Amino acid sequence: MGTGVREIVLLTLGWEDLPKSVSVLGAPSTERLREPVPGVLLHCDGGWLLLDTGFNAALVNDPVLRRRFHGGPVKAILPGPGEPLEEALAEAGIDMDQIHAVGLSHLHNDHAGGLKHFAGRVPVHVQQTELDYGLSGHPEPERNAIYRIDFDDPRIDWRTATGDVEIAPGVTAVLTAGHTPGHQSFVVTLDESVGGGGFVFAFDAADLTENIEHELPVGGSIGVDPAETVEPIRRLKRLAADRGYRLVPGHDPVVWPALTSELADRFTGLRAHARKSSDV
Ligand SMILES: [Zn+2]
Repeated sequence: MGTGVREIVLLTLGWEDLPKSVSVLGAPSTERLREPVPGVLLHCDGGWLLLDTGFNAALVNDPVLRRRFHGGPVKAILPGPGEPLEEALAEAGIDMDQIHAVGLSHLHNDHAGGLKHFAGRVPVHVQQTELDYGLSGHPEPERNAIYRIDFDDPRIDWRTATGDVEIAPGVTAVLTAGHTPGHQSFVVTLDESVGGGGFVFAFDAADLTENIEHELPVGGSIGVDPAETVEPIRRLKRLAADRGYRLVPGHDPVVWPALTSELADRFTGLRAHARKSSDV
């Protein structure tokens, strides 16, 4: 009788070619990185929970929309010709219909662009302050890479929170505001039946390992002094240390692919073991 998460599958929903200064405040603007766009699938009681949804392919692929929404210094790179989320799910062997809920770290276009797949279908967990910001003061949010077209949909079943909240058994959203007004990160506890332990997914509270190790402010913040993005990083480090969980940066070009493979190996092995045991 477990109550934790039984499987984690990491998705790469594209990449961003960007100045490192977007991720680390004050980094040389000439240095560029190719950062993965993260999605996290969690097998919980009641089905799969998806954390973050990647780009809205229409805004990248249509040349006119691309000029408006992706004309800046951050170059969006999609994994294939279609919708990144559909393609990544097909590769993972999981159906869109098997996703029973979505948790959103924040409304930036590289995280909220796939919400259209879930409108009218499943609950979407977000912080109230994030949604309030995204839906007000147009065009200020758009100038901050938050695109109303991604989430201003009356069919979305919003489940808003004010502060920390458990959104599924074994999954707690923790408020890490700064990068955006209502950014949240996620503490994931694995079920004992799959070995226990867990992970803290920072998302954009800490893009890179060096944001965590050296407590460096992230390059983008809304409504606060950039230095204030360090406190959420410290908070996540404490949460992770207290539980003995690994803290996972949101866009790290080395950590993300490595952890993707590590988790694939871990859970594929467990699935094979579970099949074998049930044969006996
Ligand atoms: Zn962001």
